[in-house]
Amino acid sequence: MQKTGGHTMALVTTVNAGIIHSGGRAIVVDTLFGPQHTAPLRQALKQDGLAEQYVFNTHYHSDHTFGNCAFGCPVISSAACSDRMRGNLEGAWNKQGIQKWLEANPQAPKDFTIRPPDLAFSDALTVYLEGLPVRMQLFGGHTPGSSIAVIERDGVIFAGDLLFIGRYPFVGDASIIGWCAALRRLMEVAAGYKAVIPGHGPILWDDAIPHEVGKLLSFFERCLDAASALAGKGASHEEVLASPSFPVIDTDQPQAEERRRVCIAKVYDEVLSWGKR
Ligand SMILES: [Zn+2]
Repeated sequence: MQKTGGHTMALVTTVNAGIIHSGGRAIVVDTLFGPQHTAPLRQALKQDGLAEQYVFNTHYHSDHTFGNCAFGCPVISSAACSDRMRGNLEGAWNKQGIQKWLEANPQAPKDFTIRPPDLAFSDALTVYLEGLPVRMQLFGGHTPGSSIAVIERDGVIFAGDLLFIGRYPFVGDASIIGWCAALRRLMEVAAGYKAVIPGHGPILWDDAIPHEVGKLLSFFERCLDAASALAGKGASHEEVLASPSFPVIDTDQPQAEERRRVCIAKVYDEVLSWGKR
């Protein structure tokens, strides 16, 4: 765990999580790929004598929520995130889905369950953790229910998957226009802040915050510009994917080219959908 302030610490792995604490009570931010990955979070709580008060899910993706069942406290998220998780329990995350997941994750405990949120907010919620205000705010973009946690007293934000640092963003069920708006808003909220913890990638400190948020925003804006120009010419998907006009992210992540193509295809489909409205 890395200390990011007097009331916050972050766990940086392939996917990030964190702890917000005050007066011996704690909010766990995201719970990783499954309960079997949550030991560092639980150890940190134990070591610092912190009682878990809430889990906060930044969004529904399994790499941020499947560890919820390792914690006994209520789970909070945006209503859009909660609705999506509850919907998934009737679909991809039903009994057979969980069975498949357990087979693919033999280290997971056999009593694994998917815990959807117990409490949900539509736009924003402030939790006073022993007097420490923790603001949870819906931002959308990466998923319709994506939200962030702002700890003003520490100058710290847990941004969830609004930020992928040093890699291509995962755009599966994103709105790219919505994501751009969310990044502009994040830039305003985080002005002068000390640390922003992305969903994936290293913690951003001080000046790296506007720099990296701006970089991702510019990547999406340049993708949108390139896609709009090609949509105007009626370009096919093949032509779009072969076009040199889309930006490149400098990364050593595996399958970077494939991930870039997924981003480009997603942006192009979104731009084409404007014409159909
Ligand atoms: Zn995600």
